[in-house]
Amino acid sequence: MLDTPIVYLKGIGPQRAEVLKKELNIFTYRDLLTYYPFRYVDRTKFSTIKDIHDETQYVQIKGIIDSLEIVGLKQAKRLVVQFRDNTGIIDLVFFKGYNWMAQKLLVGKEYVVFGKPTAFNRKFNLAHPDIDLVTDDLLSQQSAFQAVYNSTEKLKVKGLDSEGIRKTIRGLVNQLQPQHLEETLSDEVKADHKLIDRYSAFKYIHCPDNAQQLKDAELRLKFDELFYIQLRLLKLNKVRAITVRGFVFSKVGEHFNDFFTNYLPFELTNAQKRVLKEIRLDVGSGRQMNRLLQGDVGSGKTMVALMSMLLAIDNGFQTCIMAPTEILAQQHLVTFKELLKSMNIEVALLTGSTKAKERKLIHAKLLSGDIKILIGTHALIEDIVQFNNLGFVVIDEQHRFGVAQRAKLRAKNNVPPHMLIMTATPIPRTLAMTLYGDLDTSLIDELPAGRKPIKTLHFMENHRLRVYGFMREQIEIGRQVYVVFPLIKESEKMDYQNLQQGCDNIVHEFPPPKYQVSIVHGKLTADQKEFEMQRFVKGETQIMVATTVIEVGVNVPNASVMVIESAERFGLSQLHQLRGRVGRGADQSYCLLLTGYKLGADSRLRMETMVRTTDGFEISEVDLKLRGPGDIEGTQQSGVMDLKLANLALDGHILQLARQAAQSVLDEDVNFDLEKNKVYEKQLAFQQQNRPNWSKIG
Ligand code: ADP
Ligand code: MG
Repeated sequence: MLDTPIVYLKGIGPQRAEVLKKELNIFTYRDLLTYYPFRYVDRTKFSTIKDIHDETQYVQIKGIIDSLEIVGLKQAKRLVVQFRDNTGIIDLVFFKGYNWMAQKLLVGKEYVVFGKPTAFNRKFNLAHPDIDLVTDDLLSQQSAFQAVYNSTEKLKVKGLDSEGIRKTIRGLVNQLQPQHLEETLSDEVKADHKLIDRYSAFKYIHCPDNAQQLKDAELRLKFDELFYIQLRLLKLNKVRAITVRGFVFSKVGEHFNDFFTNYLPFELTNAQKRVLKEIRLDVGSGRQMNRLLQGDVGSGKTMVALMSMLLAIDNGFQTCIMAPTEILAQQHLVTFKELLKSMNIEVALLTGSTKAKERKLIHAKLLSGDIKILIGTHALIEDIVQFNNLGFVVIDEQHRFGVAQRAKLRAKNNVPPHMLIMTATPIPRTLAMTLYGDLDTSLIDELPAGRKPIKTLHFMENHRLRVYGFMREQIEIGRQVYVVFPLIKESEKMDYQNLQQGCDNIVHEFPPPKYQVSIVHGKLTADQKEFEMQRFVKGETQIMVATTVIEVGVNVPNASVMVIESAERFGLSQLHQLRGRVGRGADQSYCLLLTGYKLGADSRLRMETMVRTTDGFEISEVDLKLRGPGDIEGTQQSGVMDLKLANLALDGHILQLARQAAQSVLDEDVNFDLEKNKVYEKQLAFQQQNRPNWSKIG
């Protein structure tokens, strides 16, 4: 029954079916049933006209029509109805369908109107309110939880405003019998989590009689959505663990020990040690590792990567690390070469700008197995890059890469290499569980000792001179400064003008020869960028003006001031990433946010959050609440976007329960052999069929 085309539903017909398809993607009864209300209104309560104020969202008033009149000319022609209750008079205004309305409405009769008041000429009126003649029937039907549905102009023209949709869905719900709706959860899971059955859930979500029914329905349907995402991801993980053989790194060998005893430049943090242990357990277990390493900027992920790679080399394997930008790959090369300079390990760099001759040599040495560590950008995944025996892969700043790129690296050996996937973009736990739910995760939750928290200050444009003054002070005591300008595609031309203007200002304020300024932006060639970067790294320039190209990974410990221009134009996670460029040395570091004077509420919250905390996870939670998961990188392909009711920012506890439930189902019966679990096999197959994107994950 649920697969019946919507056109057969009572009251729909071909025309309405057509707009429902076009506007809302509703093709079948099932689609309509999962078109959920976006809120509920209390239709048992009445307000009075005199109580309407600026903040009033919706009102329902019982009263009498005093008069009605069509006024205005042409476009402005409208029906104005004077509506009165015991406390006052309000105008009801209809711009469309007014002839028909004027005929239908009766002066002197009692009506209930429901709508959103708008102020006009210092008077409130109601434009296009719902209006119903008062009858016994009407009053008995009014519910305290009347569903409100989103509609569109095109739907409204066909009579499918919120009210129309509600009546249609109510009709469908009334036809529905329990046997039409297959259960998607076993009795066991339902009992464990006190979930109502699916049939009742759909009934109550659209037509609840009371608050409890609504609550039960929401819990059940949200649980369903989250449970199936988790079941799919955890099954992937478990099946992989059972079926995919992994290389066994059985020994901690010479290179690792040599490095650890002689060349490790600092004591590892406890978090780094713990993560290394987790990795060692994985690579010794005989199954292929797929581990996500989360750690805030500056937490020392690179060292964990390097030491894991040494472990792989000791066991006879080659390794590679892929970074999202050329600058970052360069930086890794410098770091690795420095750390390994007294050891006999061949390291190479392969990027888009590696010269043909060198490239050929690298290809040959990869095949012969001479190169043990290959550092690079996307150039690494090209088919022509073949290894002798690749055993360990690191992906840095994973959010910059797609799933397909991960898969290509996996395929570089007959047995898939172990994968360490690193990200400095903290994402809320709920999102991590959903985006990377098929991966095991490690967390570096501790910064190296001696780091002072970065101080963050917010300045309005009119205090720019104070910012310059502060920069001068810091340069005076030997520090270096980043100044970052926003640059986005949509306003690229203007942004480059601003960048140029901003640069001129800075050079004017900080004139040569005393001050030297580096400039790095996307229009420079790789060589030019590298040259400018190097001047800054070597300390030849004190100020680096840049667009967000420096966002990822650059490490200059002496740079201790980050100035962000037009900070209101950056998202929270971007601001946090940028701030992470400083605070890498022992000095007190600063982040100065410059914004315009007038800020919207969101921008203000973003600035306040940055000033208040340096905790990446806290920031990511605020970010998720502000932007919703859709705007966070990586969510598009994850199934998160299929969530209709569940909200990852608000339903973390339900997600937790759903994940536990999915885990225990799989722990007992990973292949769904038991009768009670057949339902899961069926549902997963059904969803796979309807959401082909899902197969790409993992
Ligand atoms: P991220 O996690 O952002 O990639 P990095 O690996 O670049 O961080 O490390 C940031 C800086 O901290 C580097 O200069 C690195 O040498 C240093 N570092 C890493 N681990 C430690 C440690 N345990 N003690 C002191 N400094 C460390
Ligand atoms: Mg890094």
